[in-house]
Amino acid sequence: MVNVGILGATGMVGQRFIELLDKHPTFDITALTASARSAGKRYEDATTWFLDTKMPEFVKDIEVVDTDPGKISDVDIVFSALPPGIAAKVEPEFAQTYIVASNASAMRMEDDVPLVIPEVNPEYLDLIEIQQKNRGWDGFVVTNPNCSTIALTLTLKPIYDQFDIKRVYVSTMQAVSGAGYDGVPSMAIVDNLVPFIPDEEDKLEIETLHLLGDLEDGVVNPASFGVSASCHRVAVLDGHTEAVFIEMEDDINLEEIKTSMTEFRGLPQKLDLHSAPQKPVLVTNEENRPQPRMDRNASDGMSVVVGRLREDFAFENSFRYVLVGHNTIRGAAGASILNAELINEIL
Ligand code: NAP
Repeated sequence: MVNVGILGATGMVGQRFIELLDKHPTFDITALTASARSAGKRYEDATTWFLDTKMPEFVKDIEVVDTDPGKISDVDIVFSALPPGIAAKVEPEFAQTYIVASNASAMRMEDDVPLVIPEVNPEYLDLIEIQQKNRGWDGFVVTNPNCSTIALTLTLKPIYDQFDIKRVYVSTMQAVSGAGYDGVPSMAIVDNLVPFIPDEEDKLEIETLHLLGDLEDGVVNPASFGVSASCHRVAVLDGHTEAVFIEMEDDINLEEIKTSMTEFRGLPQKLDLHSAPQKPVLVTNEENRPQPRMDRNASDGMSVVVGRLREDFAFENSFRYVLVGHNTIRGAAGASILNAELINEIL
């Protein structure tokens, strides 16, 4: 077994890590950290558990410790579910010793830090060697993208592998859990929609092109088509919905787009990694799907569901679709776990 710690274990994403790692065949949770508010308490006492599943028995009595590398030992990998400001400070400290698989945005765009979706760009893990050399660390940091970026990029990858994309417009309808436990006050979101999520549009535009780029001589050259994002918070608990418009350079037909998504498989599927869904993208023909409540848990939350795939006759070579992805599973904790499973398998 590989011993793992969770940084920010009491929060929205931290709880998902615990749920997903309960009974994991390879990873065994041995350390939980959070803020000074929680440190010193039993996990059960420190945490307001809000998932549908019960808190696993084995974590209840684990003592939560400060998020400080000196407070943990006997760990190989730490999963980070920390707010970005804290992550920026402590992830480099943990990486001196440990493998850090992070959800936080703090280090995603640093030149020597791999930003990875295992089905999309596993080759970016080659940056690890450069990172360790640059920084003199025994461990390293690997990051997964923003939650809405992961879902969008998984659907663009199979298309981009075969055809030339000219531009993408995406309009998101994002769940409240994406903002963290204390993120969106109920007075702001019930009976409402908030058409602004700080920094989200930039992340979606920049990270998508970064993920679909090429790694050449240790440098990522981002993909060069246009991505334009509008992000909105909606009164849904879990599951981000995204309305996607895609214009192609080539004259291709709807069936080719659909087939590329349906047949898409990546390295995690080839390696049969524990958390890998059989199909990363599921395409539905039902006219009123996908919907977050019904589709977010597809393949235990690890597949993105695409529906309403259709031609857009207003423009040449253009298509539209709607996707749903589980933001705290495929978009966060599940993404980091899949990264760690891949690293554990191939490094
Ligand atoms: P959250 O619910 O607010 O949880 C934050 C966690 O960090 C809690 O465990 C909290 O511990 C801990 N923490 C707060 N301040 C700290 C400090 N000063 N020192 C040490 N620990 C501290 O946030 P979240 O939604 O889980 O998000 C965690 C990270 O994942 C963020 O970087 C977020 O951007 C990213 N992310 C989230 C999603 C999502 O869908 N939610 C998706 C992708 C990425 P206490 O309980 O002790 O305060």
